[in-house]
Amino acid sequence: MTHRAVLVPGDGIGPEIARATCRVIEKAGAEIEWQVCEAGEAMIAVHGAALPPDTIAAIRATGVALKGPITTPIGVGFRSVNVIMRKELDLYANVRPARSWPGVKTRFEGVDLVVVRENTEDLYAGVEHMVGEDAAESIKIITRKGSERIVRYAFEYARANGRKRVTAVHKANIMKCTDGLFLRVAREVASQYPEIAFDDMIIDALCMRLVQIPEAFDVLVMPNLYGDIVSDLAAGLVGGPGLAPSANVGQGIAIFEAVHGSAPQLTDTDTANPAALMLSAVMMLKHLGEADAARRMQGAIESCLMGGRQVTRDLGGTLGTRAFADAIIARM
Ligand code: NAD
Repeated sequence: MTHRAVLVPGDGIGPEIARATCRVIEKAGAEIEWQVCEAGEAMIAVHGAALPPDTIAAIRATGVALKGPITTPIGVGFRSVNVIMRKELDLYANVRPARSWPGVKTRFEGVDLVVVRENTEDLYAGVEHMVGEDAAESIKIITRKGSERIVRYAFEYARANGRKRVTAVHKANIMKCTDGLFLRVAREVASQYPEIAFDDMIIDALCMRLVQIPEAFDVLVMPNLYGDIVSDLAAGLVGGPGLAPSANVGQGIAIFEAVHGSAPQLTDTDTANPAALMLSAVMMLKHLGEADAARRMQGAIESCLMGGRQVTRDLGGTLGTRAFADAIIARM
């Protein structure tokens, strides 16, 4: 069966890793008719917006997209395309698995956890302004609806993927209204899933435990900002940004992308590691029901990582972006 999907190559290293990934998907045997759509700073001159309406419309129409990273100016300039995209399409769940890979040397073994990050609320609501010249404030928004659907998503994910425990992460001891509401709702939802263990942890305590015994954690669900930080921490536990995939999921729409950014300093150097986008594509293939292609692709990636030599420089190897894709294709 041929699937229709949108490809947003992004900028920086995005186009290179997207090209490498599409070659591998094709070889894995999945038939995808790509609709290539653009987003990012270069679009402002062409469409007057970093996120052209056509790109959003195409993702809505197909329901599935594979996306490269997009540069966001820090402190000034246009709002993050990623944040607008998640908000516009109401992609409320950001799913970021982090697992140890045999052959990839890190401080820990046996890590296999999933961060489920709420993707639309919290300090990312964008309600931020200056108060006079020398102060600024940002409003943290947490709602019952937002909390309920993300915690429910985490439990449904746990159920569908044979996971045993969901941990809600918060700072409800200090932010009694916002994180207090999140925790109350999490406990209510948890009571509807008696077969899955539930506990909760304060964010700072979780961070300490994650760098001591990361193998003890299973599914972690949390508000937006904590999820952003913890998922990068989790990526660092298992080999860094080059191996961290993610999915942004809403009602009938899912966008798959690497956790890392556009690494502008590596643009067009053929040195970026495309594995995180490839692993995101594996998640996309599963979502499309292409289980065999997903297995083939994941198996070939694992086999390249296993030897420790068929990898890119960030993982201690010598392969470039294209050669890494060639090595995976050769194994399939
Ligand atoms: P980054 O992830 O781009 O880079 C952090 C470090 O990791 C750098 O040393 C980089 O060289 C390295 N790195 C990242 N991806 C790599 C890969 N595939 N292979 C090898 N090394 C890799 O983070 P940053 O520097 O904070 O952000 C750069 C830009 O990306 C910013 O404009 C930021 O806003 C944007 N960003 C976009 C997304 C997204 O589109 N989803 C996510 C995060 C950051």
